[in-house]
Amino acid sequence: MKIFVNDIPEKGTETELNIPVEDFDLSDEGLLLKEPVALKVNLERIGSKVLIRGTIRTSVQLECSRCLEEFSHQIDEPFTSTFFPFQERPKDPDLELGSEDLDISYYDGKTIDLAELVREQILLSIPINPLCRPKCRGLCPECGMNPNEGKCACTGSKGDFRRLKSKDFNE
Ligand SMILES: [Zn+2]
Ligand SMILES: [Zn+2]
Repeated sequence: MKIFVNDIPEKGTETELNIPVEDFDLSDEGLLLKEPVALKVNLERIGSKVLIRGTIRTSVQLECSRCLEEFSHQIDEPFTSTFFPFQERPKDPDLELGSEDLDISYYDGKTIDLAELVREQILLSIPINPLCRPKCRGLCPECGMNPNEGKCACTGSKGDFRRLKSKDFNE
């Protein structure tokens, strides 16, 4: 999955990659890939600078931060990444050519590893507090049951408590 920078034409080129689940190991990051990674990129070279724009589509298994259930998190992320040769990396990190919507990376030697790029983009797309569904109600604080799977005996009192609380805040 390495691209030789010198092979990228200045006018740009497009490439598509399908990475099978067994060829992409995210276990170091504690992640499990559920679907092959579909990568579609447009590569452009301006001198030694390389601009990569594309989309990554796949899904990973995550654990819901509220109810602890495992679920598939769909990733369909467009991204833009600009690569500079490692030698051009500024020594002072404050001088880093940063722009909010541009991702700056550096390549060492002559190649850019698309697998590394995919790995980074997947990690960036993982929410800090993943939720199995937008309104996941979490586990019941009293009995630990998952209310997404059915009602426990204490659900009613929890609801009453919430209503009381919000009424107090409004007054
Ligand atoms: Zn959940
Ligand atoms: Zn309960």
